Amino acid sequence: MSYVLGLKCKECGHRTTATPVHVCEQCFGPYEVEYDYAAMKGKVTRESIQSGPHSLWRYQDLLPVSKPVTGFHSGMTPLRRADRLAKELGCRELWIKDDSCNYPTYSYKERVVSVAISKAVEFGFDTVGCASTGNLANSTAAHAAIAGIKCYVMIPHDLETGKVLGSLVFGPQMVRIKGNYDDVNRLCTEVADKYGWAIINVNLRPYYTEGAKTFGFEIAEQLGWKLPQHTISPVAGGTILPKILKGYQEFIELGIVEDNKPRLYAAQAAGCNPVVKAIHAGNDIIEPQKPHTIAKSIAIGNPADGYYVWHGIKDSNGWGESATDEEIVDAIKLLARTEGIWTEPAGGTTLACAIKLINSGRIPKDESICICITGNGLKTVEVVQDSLPYPRAINATLGEFDALLSEASQAGVNGISKRALVAAR
Ligand SMILES: *Cc1c(COP(=O)(O)O)cnc(C)c1O
Ligand SMILES: [Zn+2]
Repeated sequence: MSYVLGLKCKECGHRTTATPVHVCEQCFGPYEVEYDYAAMKGKVTRESIQSGPHSLWRYQDLLPVSKPVTGFHSGMTPLRRADRLAKELGCRELWIKDDSCNYPTYSYKERVVSVAISKAVEFGFDTVGCASTGNLANSTAAHAAIAGIKCYVMIPHDLETGKVLGSLVFGPQMVRIKGNYDDVNRLCTEVADKYGWAIINVNLRPYYTEGAKTFGFEIAEQLGWKLPQHTISPVAGGTILPKILKGYQEFIELGIVEDNKPRLYAAQAAGCNPVVKAIHAGNDIIEPQKPHTIAKSIAIGNPADGYYVWHGIKDSNGWGESATDEEIVDAIKLLARTEGIWTEPAGGTTLACAIKLINSGRIPKDESICICITGNGLKTVEVVQDSLPYPRAINATLGEFDALLSEASQAGVNGISKRALVAAR
């Protein structure tokens, strides 16, 4: 049983059937999937969800897919209480929603891709593609391999090696483009029109974005059918933040959770913060930027849904912050040291911004806080490489071990001295 009514324009309300279109024929606004919530009442419940599979498809009633073809092991990532980090930050109830271990390519993108590729197959496409800052390409390539369909991934030319290889290994056709993400996205739109492919974050965007709601659904379910009072999310193209909020609102609407007026906060890198700038300016016109940051996965200077992030923040009484590259690296190391989670710069950005929001009093220390960790640090080793002490090699003798140990205890923090580091290079 599907509860999907069709597509509805977010701006003028024009309705159309659920087809591979994303731009309103009346006003060029974005289409969004519309559901029959009245029909769901009493049928889509905590119990119906809990009796579903242990994957993001447990929320299938709230997704626009009738026959999933991939994502059977995606989602249901840990929501962890982060007491050691909380102590460090002086707050009472801190949670980490950890998509750094999402399966199979270790980012939140499994959610949007599982829904979009399933929908592409349902529509009869034999080729999928995407415009990506790295993680989306990894995930699209992997899920296309699982579904057994052809795949084109288009990326800016200067991505981290881990992100490039992390796509290539799955055998897609990769197109590296001399330009930034916004150039890639523009070309991708032309390709979608010309070749008739399912570009999952362009012409399948209304379906793609719905997958991101599962991030919010899981937070609520794993918190014991409750919403955190404060949720801090990274912002790139602007999909995930408004969809976490939409996920929360759907659960409220269906009586699955109580409405505690959850607040959403946007996190961006200082070197690419068009949405946070607009939030601080109090003006919903998002001025495009040219990105300059180590947080490449969220370096989108002209975010497609930035406007909806701005309004999600405004409607929920939230706020936004941005973090410098140095603050991002410090936050990556803090999360690793206190909670044993290695995230990539997007996660470092989110934590660094959360710290600023807590320290400035925007987020009260005694309320429940959830930090959204969306990607894995193993793909971006280069960002921490120069700031971690790399030990010199010793011979396997007790004498050299003793010498190293006394050197290390003199050095104090982290164990190994700067001198040992220099010797290794
Ligand atoms: C894509 C991505 C995001 C958020 O992107 P949106 O387009 O705003 O949904 C956040 N973190 C990581 C690691 C990503 O890859
Ligand atoms: Zn419209």
